[in-house]
Formats: sequence, C-alpha cells, structure tokens
Amino acid sequence: MYKYLLFDADNTILDFDLAEEKALRETLSLSPLGFTEEVHRRYHIINDLEWKKLERGETTRERLRVDRFSNLFCEFGMDGDRYGKDAADIYAERLSHQSQLIDGAAEVLQRLSQRYKCYIVTNGITEIQRSRMAGTGLERYITHSFISQEMGCAKPSPVVFEMVFEYIGDSDRSAYLVIGDSLTSDIAGAAAAGIDSVWLSDGRSELPTYRVGALKELYKILE
Ligand SMILES: [Mg+2]
Repeated sequence: MYKYLLFDADNTILDFDLAEEKALRETLSLSPLGFTEEVHRRYHIINDLEWKKLERGETTRERLRVDRFSNLFCEFGMDGDRYGKDAADIYAERLSHQSQLIDGAAEVLQRLSQRYKCYIVTNGITEIQRSRMAGTGLERYITHSFISQEMGCAKPSPVVFEMVFEYIGDSDRSAYLVIGDSLTSDIAGAAAAGIDSVWLSDGRSELPTYRVGALKELYKILE
C-alpha cells in the first residue's frame, strides 16, 4: 500500500555520530585548543545546550553553528569571538566530506528502490547534506532529497510533510511511510502529518506504526 518511503538521513542512512566525531577531531586538532577527551566531552554538553535553546526559540541555527565553538573556547579561557567562527567553518567543511553509512543502508536503498520511490527528508544544512549524500554513491536510488534549510521548516513540523506531498503531487497520506531514528522529530512529525512511520531504535514507544532495530528489518514490513 505504500508508494513513497521518506527516509531520514542522519543516523538512519548516514552515520552522523561517526561523521561528527571525525569532523570534530579534525577541527579541534587544527584549533589552539587541540583535541582531547575533555574538550570533546565539553563540546557535546555545550552543543546539546545550544540545540535545546534552538528548540525553545532562544537562538537561531546560524548562531548555534558558531556559538557552540565560541562557548567551548571561552570555557577553556580562550577568546571565543576570535576562534569560534573559524572553527565553525572548518567543522562544516570537514563534516561535508563524511559519508559513512549506517549498517545495511546501501543494500536496503538498492533493494527497496526497485519497488518504492525513495526520498530523503532531513533536518540540516543544504550544502553539507547534499555533499554527504553525494559521497555515499547512493543518490541513484534516491528520487529527491528534501532538506530543512531550503524548505524553511524542519521536522517535527507537519508543514515539512505537506511540502513533500505537494512536490510529489500525491496527497494520499496512506501512500507514505516515514523511516527515522528520532522519536521527537521523525516519528512525531509523521504522526502530526497523519503518516505511518517506522522508528529505527531499540527503544519503546506507542507513537510509531512500526519499530525496527536495524534497517534490514524493513524487508519484513515492505516485502
Ligand atoms: Mg536522524
């Protein structure tokens, strides 16, 4: 009954945790701070705080991009204003080269794209996400990628999915299936838009229509 599979990118198709770690390691190694486990740990704490601020509307995505580094430098007694922006730019550039895949992603896209139209719907920065997807060599299986920055709205807003319906030209919600790892953005967004969803997680929740622990388990639902 499904025709269109709407895959999230980060930690669903692309291994964001690995990509972030590599890009951070390279960025901080080039900075006066250097890369240590302590710096790495503090970065994650600061980054999480900035994302919470963004969710509450207390900052913007562009400010978050730089502030997480400026604040990190400040915390270690350095001039955040001086080093923050450079680090943010280097990080974005390094991240855009990271195309590591989640287990099974290549096979699943190759196989399911023979039967369904596959799309990417991702919250992220256009240039970085396009470059990372291009690096996977899997774009031939993807009909189109929808990226929040160029759409002007992000999951969990149901507006994202309304825009997807409009682009595809099919407003029959029962034809769509969202596949993602985030309960609060992918699954909540799908629920708000009235679309079925698959939660890629080991967790428990009533919100998704289905739950899988690994991508290849999608075959049980879709074949
Ligand atoms: Mg994700």
